[in-house]
Amino acid sequence: MAARMMALAKVAPAPGAQLVERPVPHPGPGEVLIQVTTAAICGTDVHIYQWNPWAQARLKLPLIFGHEFCGRLAALGPGVDPERFPVGAPVTAEMHFACGWCAYCRTGQAHICQNIQIGGVDRDGCFASYVVVPAANVWKLDGTIPHEVAAIMDPLGNAVHAALATPLTGRHVLITGAGPIGLASIGIARLAGAAGVTASDPSPYRRTLAERMGAQALDPQDRLIPRLLEATGGLGVDVVLEMSGHPEAIRQGLAALRKGGEMILLGLPHQPVTLDLGEGVIFKEITLRGLNGRRMFQTWYQTAALLRAGLDVRPLITHRFPLERYQEAFELIASGQCGKVLLIPPQP
Ligand code: NAD
Ligand code: ZN
Repeated sequence: MAARMMALAKVAPAPGAQLVERPVPHPGPGEVLIQVTTAAICGTDVHIYQWNPWAQARLKLPLIFGHEFCGRLAALGPGVDPERFPVGAPVTAEMHFACGWCAYCRTGQAHICQNIQIGGVDRDGCFASYVVVPAANVWKLDGTIPHEVAAIMDPLGNAVHAALATPLTGRHVLITGAGPIGLASIGIARLAGAAGVTASDPSPYRRTLAERMGAQALDPQDRLIPRLLEATGGLGVDVVLEMSGHPEAIRQGLAALRKGGEMILLGLPHQPVTLDLGEGVIFKEITLRGLNGRRMFQTWYQTAALLRAGLDVRPLITHRFPLERYQEAFELIASGQCGKVLLIPPQP
């Protein structure tokens, strides 16, 4: 194995990032080394790249960022069972590292662990030829999931966690925001047998992807609510999956819901949001439900099962760049003219 590797790191507390050469890390007790074959860029990575206030407050530099990837087991740390973790096996990983002993971890809610550490945020991540993760976080791949799809099982899991939080079969679903997570939710809602799947997004590019995923795609500024009311006999949709984090989308989602409807909130607003709770929620008996991350590892089993059952998310993966061309990749994402963007580290 090579002794040194190429990585994309945040070195200076300023916008941008830097290609660096680093020693290949050693897996400690209970950890594994994974050779990264494909990584993907998440909105969080864009915040880190742009060095927004959240990143400034959270990150300790230098840091190799990135947390969505797949690869191959390359080496095992002390105490890791080689029969369970054969070197060379294709894998991906849950990059939220739960502590295992807090009240949440001990009651089956490790995804909201009190002491969560995130790979690529709190410790080195996957924008590199190799990454170290706890063996307990490894998700073994069985060859049935396309390689590029395996690299985005983390954001797919967010979509699965949200979309399966309430029954969708036979119900009218509005998905606000057709970014990669909203787009994946379209596929899940379709597979679940939703009576209607509408996606709203102001971006024509993203609406085209939403149509490709099987939704009716509408511009939120073009009679969205009247159209949804027409399509649902004047009642409104049963479920809103909020996947934009945009305040206007949250308010529109509430207006689009029928009485007794349910809104699942996954999109992260940058600031506090003002809502009309009386008219929008209380009188209509709306259920609002926030969701975070992915359940460990229930969501991973569900995601793998949905992919095997025919969930096809390949249309939402639109661009691939070698790691060295990271600048182009981040500029493309800032332009909004893309779906999921992959980064391919140098292969040793
Ligand atoms: P993204 O930024 O690529 O997609 C958001 C989409 O919302 C964009 O296409 C944008 O055009 C659209 N949008 C903006 N204003 C809108 C409006 N008024 N109505 C409808 N759509 C509008 O993001 P993504 O990677 O798909 O992630 C979706 C959201 O989920 C983000 O807010 C992200 O921060 C959040 N997220 C939350 C969790 C969690 O654990 N809760 C995990 C991952 C991501
Ligand atoms: Zn914990």
